[in-house]
Amino acid sequence: MNRDLLSMVALVFSALVARSHAAFDCKLLAGKERADRIPLIFYAAGYTQSERAKYEADVDEAIAEIRKASPFREYLGHFSFYRAWTPSLRSGVLDAPSDSVFADVFLMEGAPRWNSDGFWKHYGDTAFTCAGRHQNFIMSNRGIFLLNSDASGGLTISHNWTVQSRHHWGTLIHELGHVLAGLSDEYGGYPGRPSGTWLSDGSTYVPVYNLTRSIQRDLIPWKVWIADTVPLPTPPDPQHYHDIGAFLGGDYQDTGVYHPTTDCRMLSSSLDRFCPVCREAITHRILSYTSGYFFNRIALDTVIPIPSLSRWDSTVVTGGKVVVRRIPGDTVPVSLRWRFNGGWLTGVRETLDIATLPGNGALEAILEGASPFIRNPDLVPRDTFYWSVHKSTATMPRSKPMDGIRRMGPGLFLVAQDVPVPQWARGANGKRVSLRVVARTADGWLVRGASDFGEALFLDLERDMTNSAGGL
Ligand SMILES: [Zn+2]
Ligand SMILES: [Zn+2]
Repeated sequence: MNRDLLSMVALVFSALVARSHAAFDCKLLAGKERADRIPLIFYAAGYTQSERAKYEADVDEAIAEIRKASPFREYLGHFSFYRAWTPSLRSGVLDAPSDSVFADVFLMEGAPRWNSDGFWKHYGDTAFTCAGRHQNFIMSNRGIFLLNSDASGGLTISHNWTVQSRHHWGTLIHELGHVLAGLSDEYGGYPGRPSGTWLSDGSTYVPVYNLTRSIQRDLIPWKVWIADTVPLPTPPDPQHYHDIGAFLGGDYQDTGVYHPTTDCRMLSSSLDRFCPVCREAITHRILSYTSGYFFNRIALDTVIPIPSLSRWDSTVVTGGKVVVRRIPGDTVPVSLRWRFNGGWLTGVRETLDIATLPGNGALEAILEGASPFIRNPDLVPRDTFYWSVHKSTATMPRSKPMDGIRRMGPGLFLVAQDVPVPQWARGANGKRVSLRVVARTADGWLVRGASDFGEALFLDLERDMTNSAGGL
């Protein structure tokens, strides 16, 4: 092949690549673009170019269902909905991962599956960006793959993505219980199916809210919801149908695991409400979301400048205003108090002007929220935001590696349980790699980089609020 032909082949190839990239289109449909909003990104699977309008109508229908379902309905202001589009080559979803413009979704015995390589191969591809956000936005946020198929069934992957047939909206809301709160399946009937909740050593993937292996009252995560008169385990008799207790079955097993009620979307996607225990967990997670889940952080409309992830290395403020504000329409009352170098500030509400502070030092905003859906004191959203006031930039400190994080292998870390999980690590080459929790162990959270980023690395805690980042 001569050189001209080669370069022509290269040209044609790049034109093809450019065309397929141009086909990726992702935009904000509803909600605000802020780091304290929870992005939900829809993806198309099995819709051809000529079926784009059908896909868009299906997404609208799905969002309408989410808007109706409590507790998403009450906290809608916390969500932003995105719609990504890539055409598939053939209509419908096939029984093999062959038609995969974007995510390699296919059906196996009528149930959706995906080939995760198909998704992850786009990780480093800057063409797959959404609404002008950093490319990590796509991979780091919660996603709903909508299948152009009427086969029932949904699938949740890594507590982060759901693969979901169109029109099966009861299933979608159930899957969002997994995706948004890490809830467990409350049904039994599949002995031998691997646990979706517990690892073999007894540790769990994510905090467990709605299942227990012990019926000892004090060990049940939802004990505050159980009346003293309700027997444990709770027999599934008509007299207990409306009780919150501990009913046998859950995590696919018929024995050894208990769930809270006889009426919950996590028990069956045909039921049309979350039980109070699941609703509480989802509410807690919604209210705790600030560009990822950090335990009891409170999601707020605006925090300027963005508070640091780390209490050991708070965000440096050199001037301007710090604003802390509730999300409009939020049903959560939040109390807010300010402190500077240990002394309480009076007369400050949402906005604090740095110029009014006497010198440099530690600034704190102390918040506590409340929700009618939250009864468990451990799940009440409360938080303190920290800033370091340095009115001269000449003395700005650099961020440092954090205590409480141990390197376990290439790209793998153990984060002590009382340390906020970092979202980024920076390699020695200066490149940033997002981190993801893969397991919770007795010693802490096991966190992995999305790709290996070499031996010579150091942790540099960072949170890019503008471009957003992944959570747990
Ligand atoms: Zn499920
Ligand atoms: Zn439930």
